[in-house]
This record gives sequence, C-alpha cells and structure tokens, in this order.
Amino acid sequence: MTDYCIRATAASGQIRAFAASSAGLVNHAAHTHSTTPVATAALGRLLTAASIMGLMAGNDEDLITVSIRGDGVLGGVLATADGRGRVKGYAHNPTADVPNKPNGKLDVGGAIGAGVITVVKDVGLKEPYVGKLELVSGEIAEDIASYFLLSEQTPSVLALGVLVEQDYSVKHAGGYLIQLMPGHDDNLILDLEEKILEFSSVTEFYSAGKTPEDVLEALLGDFGYEITERVPIEYYCNCDKERVKGAIVSLGRTELAQIIAEDGQAEVNCHFCNTQYHFDKAELMGML
Ligand code: ZN
Repeated sequence: MTDYCIRATAASGQIRAFAASSAGLVNHAAHTHSTTPVATAALGRLLTAASIMGLMAGNDEDLITVSIRGDGVLGGVLATADGRGRVKGYAHNPTADVPNKPNGKLDVGGAIGAGVITVVKDVGLKEPYVGKLELVSGEIAEDIASYFLLSEQTPSVLALGVLVEQDYSVKHAGGYLIQLMPGHDDNLILDLEEKILEFSSVTEFYSAGKTPEDVLEALLGDFGYEITERVPIEYYCNCDKERVKGAIVSLGRTELAQIIAEDGQAEVNCHFCNTQYHFDKAELMGML
C-alpha cells in the first residue's frame, strides 16, 4: 500500500478527521537513520502525525516542525512537514534502546522520558507561531493531542501506530486524528468516545488488510462523514549543496575563517537524509 492520507468532515462539519497510512515513509526513515525498533516507533509516530499536521495547515507553503525533547536515552525526535504531504525527521540518539514494556510493546514513553513538545508553524507571518508544552507521557500521540487541546483549543483524539518486525523493518504504520470544531454538540463527544473505545488500533486494522478509508468508516460511519481529499505522503528532504552553502555562510566570517585555518575543509551531514556534503579549501575561501 502506498502511503497516503485522507481528510474527511462529519456530523455536518462539527468533526474533521484524517487517517494516514505511512509504512513506506517510516521504513525509509528507519533505513536512513539506522534506528532501533523503539527509535523507529517514536520517529515513525511523529512523522505520521507531522504529515497530517502539515496537510491541516492547508497551504502549500506552510511548514510545520514538531520537536519532542526528553531526558530519556532517545533524547527526542523531530519532524518537519509541508502542506503537500512531504515530511522528514530524525531521532537525536537513533541507536538508543530500552527494554520493552511488560506487555511486550515498545516503550516509546520510557525512551523519550520527561520533557517538552514544541510546535513551530511558519504561516508566512513575520514571526512563526510557537507552542510549547510539557510532555504528557512521551508516547507522542497523547502529547500532540494535549498540544491541540491546550495550545489550539481544539479537542482532539490522535492515535498513532508503528509495527516493527524482528528484522527491524516496518510492517505497518499510520494513524488517525479526529477533531471537534468550535460550536460542536456536546452529545457528540459521548457517541464518538464509544466508537473510539470499540476501535482496536490502526496497525491491527492494516494488518487485516484494511485501509485508511476503512479506519474512518469504522470511526465515523455513524456520523455522516464525507472524504474530501486524498493526498500521497512521502519522506522527502529538500537539501542540496547550495542550501548547505548558505548555512555555512550564515555562520559568519570569523567562524568560517577559523574552519579554514583549523580544518582546511568542511564536511556537513544533513540530519534529515544523512547526505554528506564536502567543501574543499577553495570553496570555503570563495564563501569567505
Ligand atoms: Zn537532506
């Protein structure tokens, strides 16, 4: 199944919802960063959520960055997405590992630890919008749902799942987000909660050969939903040598002169896609 995200409205516009299937892009991230299963789960959950949040912004130019930092061994994860279904990210310590929970599940919350979630939205204004909150559990979905409620005043249910195989590959990944729009009927919450409790999990759904459409049908089938958009999502990094050059130049004259004097060259590694960029002395002198 190729990765994609669907958007829907339900209950005469009182609900908006998204469901995504993201195993391909999570696999790509795991391969790029050589992550342990728990790091794959943490990063995969965040990449899936960020791809949905990028699409929510609705404008092609909008960029959203979600950073989760904690005091656990993983250190945290970061993801950036645009409004066209393109997402990229990394884990601070991709090889960090922790024992599974007693129920056998990957302990993402334990690997992240206590910390903060920061959401930066570049909405084309002079100053980007920044929301910052303490983590609820480090399990990612709860932390982002709490951000939606407290920073954006939008009651939300977010579920994220990544199923990692014994060989470290990602078998299934995805998630759904359901949000209540301003002016919603309070009875709607109880009916929705019932549906959400009945629902198993996204990865169980996908393991049974079902799709994001089936996820929304199961959750919103009783609420007169309508799918309004279907967008392919992918892991994509827009770095190139010119961009990296710009970053080096922005270090400033003094620092650049120091690099030339001390190293005579520069190696820059893109955090998102692991591409190595090499600059020899002549290139660095040119920038100076
Ligand atoms: Zn890159």
